[in-house]
Amino acid sequence: MEGHNWNIWPLLQWRDLGGALGTGSHSAESKSTGALASLSLSASAPPALRGAHSTICSAHRAVLALHTAMASAPQVALVTGANKGIGFAIVQQLCRQFPGDVVLTARDEARGRAAVQQLQAEGLSPRFHQLDIDDLQSIRVLRDFLRKEYGGLDVLVNNAAIVFKPADPTPLHIQAEVTMKTNFFGTRAVCTELLPLMKAQGRVVNMSSIITLIALKKCSPDLQQKFISKTITEEELVGLMNKFVEDTKKGVQQKEGWPDIQLLPYAVSKMGVTVLSRIHARNLSEQRRGDKILLNACCPGWVRTDIGGPKGIKSPEEGAETPVYLALLPSDAERPHGEFLMEKKVEQWGPLCQLPSWVPF
Ligand code: NAP
Repeated sequence: MEGHNWNIWPLLQWRDLGGALGTGSHSAESKSTGALASLSLSASAPPALRGAHSTICSAHRAVLALHTAMASAPQVALVTGANKGIGFAIVQQLCRQFPGDVVLTARDEARGRAAVQQLQAEGLSPRFHQLDIDDLQSIRVLRDFLRKEYGGLDVLVNNAAIVFKPADPTPLHIQAEVTMKTNFFGTRAVCTELLPLMKAQGRVVNMSSIITLIALKKCSPDLQQKFISKTITEEELVGLMNKFVEDTKKGVQQKEGWPDIQLLPYAVSKMGVTVLSRIHARNLSEQRRGDKILLNACCPGWVRTDIGGPKGIKSPEEGAETPVYLALLPSDAERPHGEFLMEKKVEQWGPLCQLPSWVPF
């Protein structure tokens, strides 16, 4: 009864294969290997069925390869804008404490490789990958590298940012557009491409700033409500960030309720980063609850770097402490998640928060 043979086996194999695919765990490998071992058709099977059978086998092999790659890939942590300043110090500390590979990224290859060499001279072994967060192509090349070499990402630190100094003569609306492009839209683009790669128990740290709390306090009540809303969507936030840039072009930013403070474009772009972090954390809780990924924003303090200036009260190494703490939260930790932290402590995101005494304005 040859006919019965080719009728029954493919059905069994479909079920086994479906079960293996459905588990989403590494145990799928051994289960599906068993299924693969029994994948055989008798010579009298009809050509259509043989074709389907071959397709299933190919798909099955691809899944096996993916599972094998993910099971054997080392853990990986990545820091953006890490050729200097706090990002460099974060990579340095992760190289000492993170149990896997650490990727130092920089938009300029020569500056990035020089930073890697500096760390190698200290006996550390970061990897290098180019990343310009303003360039979608650059982000996607990095994404493909992470997929291929690691099957995903365990720690992402969104550190890269720019600021126009208070004395900079560049017109405000240009400052607003350029700063928003990197600090908010560049960070968001990295999240769009890399958050789907985050592995279970992954950690995401977004570098924000205390200046976002100062800005929030000084926004109009209407804007405050929007920025502290627990239901604001990413599209609504993008709309607010674009509106800020448009308002500066028309010179109506104060009339429209934006704060009247120094470093205004930097402050509003980072307010976007803080609120984006809350939104992404909420999405992760809804869509990947079982994966226990923790995502937070933080302020490193006032740090002596090109952004912080020479009067900062912390060294870059001290500034790296809170982001590294968040990057290395233990695998069984359930919080903090979706919070804003300073000095490793959660700060209330709202206009009534207390500002530390070192805040210069
Ligand atoms: P920093 O020394 O100026 O470092 C900024 C880094 O971002 C540099 O490596 C820079 O690369 C990189 N970068 C800028 N634009 C980029 C882009 N488009 N793509 C990729 N990398 C880019 O400043 P920092 O003080 O260490 O700042 C680190 C983070 O901490 C920032 O998010 C900042 O907002 C935050 N922060 C700092 C302070 C402080 O007091 N320093 C306070 C609060 C928050 P290049 O060298 O190529 O320019």
